[in-house]
Amino acid sequence: EEDLALLAGTGGGDGGEGAAAPLPVLAVVGRPNVGKSTLVNRILGRREAVVEDVPGVTRDRVFYQASWSGRDFTLVDTGGWERNVSGLDLRVAEQAEVAVELADAVVFVVDATVGATATDEAVVRLLRRSGRPVVLAANKVDDARGEADAAALWSLGLGEPIPVSALHGRGTGDMLDAAIAVLPEVSAVGGPVLGGGPRRVALLGRPNVGKSSMLNQLAGSERVVVDPTAGTTRDPVDELVELGGRQWRFVDTAGIRRRVHQTRGADFYASLRTQAALEKAEVAVVLLDASQPLTEQDVRIVSMVQEAGRALVLAYNKWDLTDEERRHYLEREIERDLVQTPWALRVNVSAVTGRHVEKLVPALDTALESWDTRVPTGKLNAFLGELVAAHPHPVRGGRQPRILFGTQASTRPPRFVVFATGFLEAGYRRFIERRLRETFGFAGSPIEVSVRVRE
Ligand code: GDP
Ligand code: GDP
Repeated sequence: EEDLALLAGTGGGDGGEGAAAPLPVLAVVGRPNVGKSTLVNRILGRREAVVEDVPGVTRDRVFYQASWSGRDFTLVDTGGWERNVSGLDLRVAEQAEVAVELADAVVFVVDATVGATATDEAVVRLLRRSGRPVVLAANKVDDARGEADAAALWSLGLGEPIPVSALHGRGTGDMLDAAIAVLPEVSAVGGPVLGGGPRRVALLGRPNVGKSSMLNQLAGSERVVVDPTAGTTRDPVDELVELGGRQWRFVDTAGIRRRVHQTRGADFYASLRTQAALEKAEVAVVLLDASQPLTEQDVRIVSMVQEAGRALVLAYNKWDLTDEERRHYLEREIERDLVQTPWALRVNVSAVTGRHVEKLVPALDTALESWDTRVPTGKLNAFLGELVAAHPHPVRGGRQPRILFGTQASTRPPRFVVFATGFLEAGYRRFIERRLRETFGFAGSPIEVSVRVRE
C-alpha cells in the first residue's frame, strides 16, 4: 500500500521547489456494495486482490493521489466508511454529504443490475443541492447486454449514465474522461500540495536572539551549500546544512547572514521576511533569548508560525547567560505569554558554546512527524465514539448536538473535520482538540478541529 502514500497538506503550503496548487478533489460516492471500492482500486491501478470483504480489514485512508490523461487529482474513497465507523451512526446520505463537502466533483456509483433505489434517489437530491458536478457511473455493466440497465438510470435526472464495469475495467476510461472534464484545474476545497527533497526549516527570531550565531554553529564543521533558490531574486537564499547525517534546507537565510539593519519600517520588513520564510518552510525553529524577558515581538513570531500551520520548535538560546533566578522568571514568562502553544517542542541551547544544539534534530524530527501524522478514519471515529459516550456535549436550550462522524481532512498540519447535528460550543471543540492531543500526540505541530453542521 505504500505507493499509495497519502498526500499531505492543504493549500497554501509550499513556496519552494515542487510548489503546486492544490489538486482538484474527486469523491466516489454510492450505496454499500455498488462497487465503489472496486472502482477506486481500478482508478488507482491497484490489483483486484486488494478489495476484499474480510471482516476486520478496514481501509483507513480517505485521500489518494490519482491521475488520468496527465491530470493529477485527489481521489476520496468513501468505500470503507460504513465499516470504519464505530459507535457512530453514519447513513449513506450523511456519508455522501461528508464526501461532497470535501470534493470538487463527485462520481456517483449506482449498481445498474439493481437499478435506482430510494436511497440512490435520496443521494441524488443531496448531490443536486450541493451544486457539485456529478458523473453518474452505472456499474456492473460487465458486457454489452447490460447497457440497457445503464440506460434505465437516465431516470435519476443526472444526465447520461456511463456504463462501467469496475471489476473488468470496461468503460472506466470514458467515465474518467467525463470526470476530468468537470474537475476544476485548481481545487476550491483545498487539496494537497506536493513537495520533496530535504525538509525545509525556517530559522526565525527577533534581531539579536542569535540566529546567525546558530546558523554558524549548525553549519559549523559540517558542509554548507549555499543555494540561491531559482537564481532570480538576490535576496532569499537557502542553505543546505547536514545535521544528524541528513540534509536540511534552511530557507531564506540571506536575511540572517546579511544582517541588514533597516531603521525605518524594520518591523514590517522583518515580519514580511518571517512570513516569506514560513511559506517556504515545513517547520520553524523560533529562537528566543532566554537571558532576556520575552518580548511582544517574540510572541508575535510564535503566533505567525501557528497561523501559518507549521511545525514548531522553540529554542531558548543564550542559556549560558542564564542563572537560576533568570530561569525561574523565564518559566513564568512562558506560562504567561506562550500559553497558545503549549504543544511546541522546546530545547534550551547556546549557539555560542554549542550546548544542546544537537537536540534540535530529534525535536525537528518529532515536530515534523506530528505534522505529517494521519489518524486513520476508523481510529478517529472510535476515539470520537468513546469521547461522546463519556462526555456528551452539554444540552443547551433543550438541544444537544450529536456528533455523526469525523475525518482528518489533511495533514501538514493535521486538520480534522467533525460532522455534527448542531453547532458545537468553542469549549467543547477545545475539549475535542485536547483529547485528540492526549490520545494521538501531535507534539510540535498545530492541529485544527473544524465542525460542519448537518441537519
Ligand atoms: P462498495 O461497498 O461500494 O465499496 O462495493 P465493493 O467495491 O466492495 O463491491 C461490492 C461487490 O460488488 C464485490 O463483491 C465486487 O466484487 C462486486 N463488484 C464491484 N464492481 C463490479 C462490477 O463491475 N461487476 C461485477 N459483476 N461485480 C462488481
Ligand atoms: P541575530 O541578529 O539573531 O542573527 O543574532 P546574532 O547571532 O548576531 O547574535 C547577537 C549577539 O548575541 C551576538 O553578539 C552573539 O555573539 C550573541 N549570542 C548569540 N547566541 C549566543 C549564545 O548562545 N550565548 C551567548 N553568550 N551569546 C550569544
